[in-house]
Amino acid sequence: MTWRADILTLFPEMFPGPLGLSLAGRGLREGLWSLVAHDIRDHAKDRHRSVDDTPFGGGAGMVLRPDVVDAAVGAALAEAPGRPVIYLTPRGRLLDQALARELAAGSGAVLLCGRYEGVDQRVIEARGMLEISIGDYVLSGGELAALTLLDACVRLLPGVMGAAESAAEESHGAEGLLEYPHYTRPAEWADRAVPEVLLSGHHAAIAAWRRAESEKITKERRPDLWARHETQRGGAGAIAGHPAAA
Ligand code: SAM
Repeated sequence: MTWRADILTLFPEMFPGPLGLSLAGRGLREGLWSLVAHDIRDHAKDRHRSVDDTPFGGGAGMVLRPDVVDAAVGAALAEAPGRPVIYLTPRGRLLDQALARELAAGSGAVLLCGRYEGVDQRVIEARGMLEISIGDYVLSGGELAALTLLDACVRLLPGVMGAAESAAEESHGAEGLLEYPHYTRPAEWADRAVPEVLLSGHHAAIAAWRRAESEKITKERRPDLWARHETQRGGAGAIAGHPAAA
């Protein structure tokens, strides 16, 4: 079954946007995944096609109505049931590679993009939505967050990334390390040489250098990731045959 994303938005023309290009776009055209953008406004109940209203309790801004959002969610789920309903929100769980992997391993998702002040709390609860944030800052709408989440998931689907762009060694992989630096031709540029070892053809030495760089960069830049890596490695060491124990 194809991994399917349904987007609920007031701006369906923003999709697939950048996901229509490059590897994700090719995967989309080849049917490795599918995307349907729905206009929340199609589920409005009145002749003005209103989707929002003023907040109870007062305050600035508008809130997306629960009845309209619920109808949009129901219609998307009816087309392909059994998928998580995700509300993109700065109040949600932070998106990371583990969550992207988990979502990519499923059958897809329904993604609700908020606008204005956000969405009425009751429909978030009634639909058991998974709330996800892409970072500790506030965007004007959930669309760019949905595109970010989708990009992180779709590139992990079988066949989307070619062998040339393997996820095996990249940052935030199985070992939770950041990736080593890359170099290409020319071997000498602006008085800067490529590290000798990379020109040696000695595969074991190259692998060892890359591993050491990965560890150094992770330690320097992300002590939080390094601490987690060390804890995992400590625990995994006791399990014979575990890849992280090697
Ligand atoms: N009033 C909300 C708050 O303070 O939490 C912010 C609303 S924001 C202006 C409008 C919409 O953008 C949100 O409903 C959400 O869908 C989306 N959004 C904004 N920042 C986001 C983030 N960091 N991650 C995911 N979605 C975000």
